[in-house]
Amino acid sequence: MSRIDFAARRRAMVAQQIEARGVTDARVLAAMRAVPRENFVSPSWQDEAYHDSPLPIEGKQTISQPYIVALMAEALQLKGDERVLEVGTGSGYAAAVLARLAAEVHSVECIPVLAGLATKRLAAQGCSNVTVHRGDGSLGWPEAAPYDAVVVTAAGPDVPAALKAQLKLGGRLVMPVGERHGLQDLLRLTRTGEHDERRELLLPVRFVPLTGEQGWPG
Ligand code: SAM
Repeated sequence: MSRIDFAARRRAMVAQQIEARGVTDARVLAAMRAVPRENFVSPSWQDEAYHDSPLPIEGKQTISQPYIVALMAEALQLKGDERVLEVGTGSGYAAAVLARLAAEVHSVECIPVLAGLATKRLAAQGCSNVTVHRGDGSLGWPEAAPYDAVVVTAAGPDVPAALKAQLKLGGRLVMPVGERHGLQDLLRLTRTGEHDERRELLLPVRFVPLTGEQGWPG
């Protein structure tokens, strides 16, 4: 398949799966049109790269459904000058999208082989403002805190206290919270004060578990 086919599929994906479901942020739509999802999955899955679904990646994990990547990115309300933390690098695809929406992205992945592959894929895409860290992202990445926005792409029993503490006042955190196996609530938490927060329910979702010290037992 040629690159032209992938580009056409990408445009159709944005129109049919993302705009049609109500994502309107022009910067998010442009980022989704620009990032080649096929380059973040193994060659055997490239033909399915623009399907309206998650896909398997290495380490028995998944690359999220494109619509969910766009919805979470839009919910972060990024303007372009922010420092963002992503927990759950996975393939690196969402980090590549965030790289186009913010100034600086730190992404934490606990499976070393995924962190290594994502680092290479992001470098191949020229995403020089993304740093992939290996570690337990349920504890955030304090070295680069505080963050204007935090996105967690795995589901925990609740929002980890460490992540809230690393969020600036006024910052947004988007994360699925709920059962380990089953449906979760995709939440946006806004830090409204030193000890105050506002929570909004965005959508029911189904994500792989957030493991680690402030997630589910590994
Ligand atoms: N954002 C990814 C993408 O664009 O491909 C999708 C992420 S996948 C749905 C969830 C990822 O979270 C998996 O790669 C998993 O290993 C990772 N994960 C789960 N618990 C974690 C933790 N405590 N710290 C860092 N990564 C974690």
